[in-house]
Amino acid sequence: MRTIMLIDMDYFFAACEEIKRPELKSRPTIVGADPKGGRGRGVVMTCNYVARKLGIHSAMPISSAYKIAPEAEYLPMDYSYYERKSNEALSIIKRFSGAAEQVSIDEFFIDVSLKVSNHDEALRLAEKVKAAISSEAMLPCSIGISSTKLVAKMACEKAKPNGIKFVGEAESKEFMWPLPVGELYGVGAKTRERLEKMGYKTIGDLSKVNVMALMDEFDSFGIELHNLSNCIDPREVVENYEIKSIGKEYTFGKDTKDDSEVIKSIKELSASLGKDVSAKKFSFKSVTLKLRYMDFTEHMHSRSIRPTGLPGEIAKTAVEIYLENVDRTKKIRKIGVRVSGLQDYKNQKLLFN
Ligand SMILES: [Mg+2]
Repeated sequence: MRTIMLIDMDYFFAACEEIKRPELKSRPTIVGADPKGGRGRGVVMTCNYVARKLGIHSAMPISSAYKIAPEAEYLPMDYSYYERKSNEALSIIKRFSGAAEQVSIDEFFIDVSLKVSNHDEALRLAEKVKAAISSEAMLPCSIGISSTKLVAKMACEKAKPNGIKFVGEAESKEFMWPLPVGELYGVGAKTRERLEKMGYKTIGDLSKVNVMALMDEFDSFGIELHNLSNCIDPREVVENYEIKSIGKEYTFGKDTKDDSEVIKSIKELSASLGKDVSAKKFSFKSVTLKLRYMDFTEHMHSRSIRPTGLPGEIAKTAVEIYLENVDRTKKIRKIGVRVSGLQDYKNQKLLFN
């Protein structure tokens, strides 16, 4: 059986600020836009649990937070420090798993199928990971454990704050189906509204809808909704970038949802990557597309292909991956294309026919 853990740092930006200034732990602390005495624009990025108890939450307008707690500590984002703490957490996590996939600055998937064989062992390992992150990086986290990325992620939501939750493969549907449809991983606010209008309140309701009806409404995303609501999620944990890989990234001047603009950039990155691959006489056997969205969530999508050295395969595969995986509810900030499983093709046969 596959065992996947999602390790998610709790109130990450605010927790980082608490490391710098421990006295903040007992005060409402809000990281985000400058409140400017209540007239500020922008939103709360993260706040600590003292602030949450007052009713403040992330994505809330900073002016509303100020109305509730003018006396709170308001701090700007210190992104380079958060990135450093994130790397620290990642290197601790890797000690326990070998490979880890970073989903966003504070979330990591690991596949521990080879390390644990039952519920108790999985829990013990999760406790160890959690204790190490807490004592070494000084960061609180929550861990969800299941047989799929989807359910591990959703279990983690229920484990917060500072908890561990295991949902076995057999209990996955029982766990997921009573939850509101908006809690399904991958369903944003707009999709939730549409689903609710169609009369689906829970994930269980959605799971019973004919897949064709969902495709009429959502095109290929309908298939995904059908699969996810039925706990079908074959996605594997993909080590972000293997060592034997090369890649290129591009940040858009302005966040974009425009397919033609994104595809054009994917093709340009792929062409430039293709030149390097050809120059070094490499073959590759997988292509990874990274999408970082405006809210800083980051998704890696990889596809294995028959080993090849043909540079044109990079763009072709990357564009396919893009069209199948892009989350159209969010604008994209940055993209990356990477090829891995590199080999020197002089030592191989049959690659170029
Ligand atoms: Mg988090």
